[in-house]
Amino acid sequence: MNLKKQFPILEQHAHGHPLVYLDNAATTQKPLPVIEAIDRFYREANANVHRASHYLSARSTHAFEEAREEVRHFLNAAGSDEIIWTRGATEALNLVAQSWGRSQLQPGDEILLSAMEHHANIVPWQLVAEQTGALIKVINVTEQGELDLNSFRELLTDKTRILAIAHVSNAIGTVNPVETLAFEAKAKGAVVLLDGAQAVSHASIDVQKLNCDFYVFSGHKVFGPTGIGVLYGKKALLEAMPPWQAGGEMIREVSFKGTTFNELPFKFEAGTPNVSGVIGLREAVRFVRALDMKQVVEHENRLRVRAEEGLKNLPGVTLVGEARHKVSVVSFVVEGIHNQDIGLLLDQQGIAVRTGHHCTMPLMEHLGLSGTVRASFSVYNTLEDVDVFLAALSRILKGEL
Ligand code: PLP
Repeated sequence: MNLKKQFPILEQHAHGHPLVYLDNAATTQKPLPVIEAIDRFYREANANVHRASHYLSARSTHAFEEAREEVRHFLNAAGSDEIIWTRGATEALNLVAQSWGRSQLQPGDEILLSAMEHHANIVPWQLVAEQTGALIKVINVTEQGELDLNSFRELLTDKTRILAIAHVSNAIGTVNPVETLAFEAKAKGAVVLLDGAQAVSHASIDVQKLNCDFYVFSGHKVFGPTGIGVLYGKKALLEAMPPWQAGGEMIREVSFKGTTFNELPFKFEAGTPNVSGVIGLREAVRFVRALDMKQVVEHENRLRVRAEEGLKNLPGVTLVGEARHKVSVVSFVVEGIHNQDIGLLLDQQGIAVRTGHHCTMPLMEHLGLSGTVRASFSVYNTLEDVDVFLAALSRILKGEL
């Protein structure tokens, strides 16, 4: 696979070295078609959507709704009215917590999360738990970095109203057995939300096969722009949920006697949306759909295995999270050297990794760590990138850099 040429940002040098970008779990780079689509939109089609009868508005509205249909295909949702635009995964999670959670949860109801969740799938639930009197239960994570299924089965009860869980862990790359979890949770009558922020660029997603009620992701983690994301929700659930933000676009009729709300998906899209973000995401999704996902997975696995084997051979390095099913995310710590120092020294060699708690402080606490170094590989990375990273790290450990 040689896709690097389609990503112009990767052609540059950083601190005098060719840039090696291994921070893809934080955000992915953008291929030319995405960059060009946003540029073209502002040159040729910019107008507010759904509101005016003029040429440009018709053009931008058409592209905007075409994007929704593209995302529907991408997730295999039953209808495009099940696709809600948000600012990102975080906003989508807050939407569900505030709209579904606040209207449905009662004192004593249980919200089931796991110890490996990103803060974005913890804190919105803490807020809604405080507002409603619901309780949060936390599924244990094993030393290997996998979800403890015994703990899941112990905590899943008739009181569980929602299971909200990461499809893939951003900190350690674990792929959770979401189909099994969803099946068992639904058998108990719980609603199932999957946080797909880290899954969408590494796997084909089929929300109907997964049988989840909600699925969320951010455009920027799947080669699209920042500031745009998606909430997928099953139509019946979305229809029963109250709006969570109010303003233009989400209404049918407004009067001081009372206001009626628009139909799905617009009921949840108050105000002028991020039109150029949606246009960029449409192109990003087309880019992913044109890839052979089987080849992507094989390629990324090769990168991950090469990195893991290399790291295991370096003195003082311990891998964090060795789940049986993983995406191309490698987390590690080095004895006697703080993760941030490793990050800074790698940066001096033009190599971008992420250090710290990765917005998963409860997971770090659970593993007894303050943070890790995380190298995360994307489809455009090469075996050479991995080798450059391993060679630089080896020299850092020898005190040569
Ligand atoms: N969930 C997971 C698993 C993530 O990795 C992230 C971002 O790192 C988020 C949610 C939040 O995504 P965003 O900051 O794009 O809203």
